[in-house]
Amino acid sequence: MIFIFGVNDGNVEEKQTNRTETCQRCGNTSRWIAAKQSMKASLFFIPVFPIKTKYYYYCSICRDGYEITKEDYERMI
Ligand SMILES: [Zn+2]
Repeated sequence: MIFIFGVNDGNVEEKQTNRTETCQRCGNTSRWIAAKQSMKASLFFIPVFPIKTKYYYYCSICRDGYEITKEDYERMI
């Protein structure tokens, strides 16, 4: 019996915040996006359980941004 384990990048859930930022990269002022990415362990390419969740905050135009904490994410949405 062969088991194939892997890590699935999972879904990225994007939420538009009410915050307006001026992007350092593209120079546009827009509402930034708070995103949550859940990575899942997979078995035979089927996601079985979550192993890590990452949160990001980025420009809605060029998507340049940075990683944030869960607390920041919850405050933004
Ligand atoms: Zn930008």
